[in-house]
Amino acid sequence: MSADQSPTTVPFDAARVAKAIRQRLQSLQRSGVTAIRSPGKSQTDLNELEKQLATIEQNGLPELQVAATADSIGPNEIETTAAVQPEPTVTAEQTIPSETPSITLSTSQENSVMPSKKQSELAIVCQEVANCTACAELASTRQNTVFGVGNPNARLVFYGEAPGADEDKQGEPFVGRAGKLLNKIIEAMGLTRDEIYILNTIKCRPPGNRNPTPEEQQNCAGFLQRQLEIIQPEYIVCLGAIASHSFLECKTPIGKMRGQFFDKNGIKVLCTFHPAYLLRDPRRKRDVWDDIQFLMKDMGLKIPKTSEGVT
Ligand code: SF4
Repeated sequence: MSADQSPTTVPFDAARVAKAIRQRLQSLQRSGVTAIRSPGKSQTDLNELEKQLATIEQNGLPELQVAATADSIGPNEIETTAAVQPEPTVTAEQTIPSETPSITLSTSQENSVMPSKKQSELAIVCQEVANCTACAELASTRQNTVFGVGNPNARLVFYGEAPGADEDKQGEPFVGRAGKLLNKIIEAMGLTRDEIYILNTIKCRPPGNRNPTPEEQQNCAGFLQRQLEIIQPEYIVCLGAIASHSFLECKTPIGKMRGQFFDKNGIKVLCTFHPAYLLRDPRRKRDVWDDIQFLMKDMGLKIPKTSEGVT
């Protein structure tokens, strides 16, 4: 902390941090990991970590003093000092595989949630997107850029068309009615939005919900490419014709592209109908569920016997 930076007391959202760790913990457990270890420390049993996490979830954490100027706060620049007596440290870092982000939660002298390498790299691209004005019309009419959301280590990416009004307002993809239906699809797979990643062909809303132009898609393609290079998913589900045609650079009708994998740079690509189309024609939900089961089988995900799929 420099001399001209006065410490400011800000509320520390312990519930949000605990929730993030809880989700990571569950993900590790689902992967069969039973213990974790951080550099220079002994191994910790996940059950023990879970007990400590439960204590934090129940009792919360005290307020922290954060030393930072308004314009210096970034993922790597928040310097924190505990304003209360130190509590037991909860530290989680998965050692297998090495790409797994490190999550650290501590009420000792280093209160911080460290971004993973992938999160840091995505944050850089996100900042560039926020400053982008390559599409003059979109840049002048958007409320927010819609970068994408999800797990940087996701095996699966859902790839949609373009932000709509709700997404433009909230800066997050698939949050409107179509987004709610996508959530149901994800839930039917036994997954959550925190386990996958969601992207669109372009990051800014086309006025009046018109289709993105080829030029706009071209302008934005570099951002998508960099996101995928960072995330390195195994699977991409293209939602609708625009996403499918844009990603696979073809004009084949979506009905003929469904139900099979295409290869794009080693990624298995599945094309299916867009959730917005399902809202207009619910009879197509069965087709989408067939496609999703095809995907789940290849991913090694368990298909519920009694599931009605997408309803
Ligand atoms: S759509 Fe993409 S390329 Fe166009 S202004 Fe937005 S971020 Fe930039």
